[in-house]
Amino acid sequence: MSRASSETSIFTEMTELARRTGAVNLGQGVPDLDSPPALLAGVSAAVLAGRNQYPPAAGHPALRAAVAAHQRAHYGLDFAPEAEVLVTTGATEALAAACLALTGPGDEILTLDPAYDAYPADARLSGARLVSVPLTLDGDGFALDADALAAAVTPRTRLLLLNSPHNPAGKVLDDAELAAVAELCRERDLTVVTDEVYEHLVYDGRHRPIATLPGMRERTLTISSAGKTFNVTGWKVGWITGPARLVAAVASVKQWLTYASGTPYQEAIALMLGEVGPWAAGLRATLRAHRDLLTAGLAEAGLRPLRAEAGYFVQADIRGWGAADGLRFCRELPERAGVVAIPTSAFRQGEDPAPWLVRFSFCRRAEPLREAVERLAKAA
Ligand code: PMP
Ligand code: GLN
Repeated sequence: MSRASSETSIFTEMTELARRTGAVNLGQGVPDLDSPPALLAGVSAAVLAGRNQYPPAAGHPALRAAVAAHQRAHYGLDFAPEAEVLVTTGATEALAAACLALTGPGDEILTLDPAYDAYPADARLSGARLVSVPLTLDGDGFALDADALAAAVTPRTRLLLLNSPHNPAGKVLDDAELAAVAELCRERDLTVVTDEVYEHLVYDGRHRPIATLPGMRERTLTISSAGKTFNVTGWKVGWITGPARLVAAVASVKQWLTYASGTPYQEAIALMLGEVGPWAAGLRATLRAHRDLLTAGLAEAGLRPLRAEAGYFVQADIRGWGAADGLRFCRELPERAGVVAIPTSAFRQGEDPAPWLVRFSFCRRAEPLREAVERLAKAA
């Protein structure tokens, strides 16, 4: 049974291990960094003013307008707030609703491997088959094999599930890779669902939504979320933008999953999204420094780090410690070093070409990161 079909996710297992052992938790990507004070005040204001009932099922009108304005200001993409923006309960619901709306038994969903663990679960929920194309390990980073992706398309391929910036790989698809994917989608008439929750957390290079490439806007559903951008992962407010016919299909499923959620959160995020630029620049500077701290610490401890261009995570090669199995290593690491990490194998389907990779999170404050790095150095 694959991890994604078992009852306990790897995040639950490793978070429980951290709790039990008191280890520094660099497993699940849960930030302990501050959020914008105006955002927090916005929620309180909405709650105290009594705006606590259901918003419209498609989302608070102010948030739909703010998401449309965000896509225009940052990427030059135009979406009509009423018909082309849908607010969801986190990116998680957007992903599930998109898979349920667009695929069914007999269909194939194409994705990259490794992949965020919700993707195989969502494919299973809709009865579709997930077809995974490995990212290739290229020196200290990952690369997309566009030929392998093209070869994996069949007449049953209903959608391509992309993730850039990528969890766990920390990879941002570059211009050449995006162009190759877009060309394939146009040629084979594929619909794309793209998970861009780390859009504002790119440290090297830049984020370019695939919907901005020629011919892609009309075939792409773009997903994002407030969780990572504002350090509010517990609020579970996400959104999806795309052409009206695709958004309507997702909305028709979403209404039966949660109907709607979190009016005060949606209202506060609507206010902040217009000012995300300066906030995100500060957060990026902090996280870039934390990525550097963790990367240097892992190297120092003999756990060769891979390149992390974006997001929350650095992968490390555990073979320097004489280990080969990431899951076993992570189960033993709290005892051995007082640190919790997540095996990259939890994000793999089928044969794992690199079971010796382990994912460490750097979305923590500097103190726990320094503590973790010191513990790893001692245990090395
Ligand atoms: N996609 C990716 C790639 C993620 O890392 C996460 C983080 N949990 C999610 C989706 C889920 O986002 P949300 O918390 O908004 O549901
Ligand atoms: N996205 C977070 C991570 O990759 C975890 C989300 C979850 O627990 N499902 O660590």
